[in-house]
Amino acid sequence: MAFEEIVCYSQTVILVLLALGYLANLRNKRGTISPKVEIKCPSCDYVITDQNVEYCAKCGNMLSHSEGLSLEK
Ligand SMILES: [Zn+2]
Repeated sequence: MAFEEIVCYSQTVILVLLALGYLANLRNKRGTISPKVEIKCPSCDYVITDQNVEYCAKCGNMLSHSEGLSLEK
């Protein structure tokens, strides 16, 4: 059936376009990623690449960016 062939073809084209758009989006995201902000431990100058950590992995010093958190000690 010619109609079914057309539907199948158009679906394939749509899938290809979606895949291309997805890949382009990935490339754009990679291109716009800013360079990693490195945090240095104020006590031992250990470079912390993970910004989610609150303490220095080397000396256990509390990092400055977690200043807002009130941690009892
Ligand atoms: Zn440290």
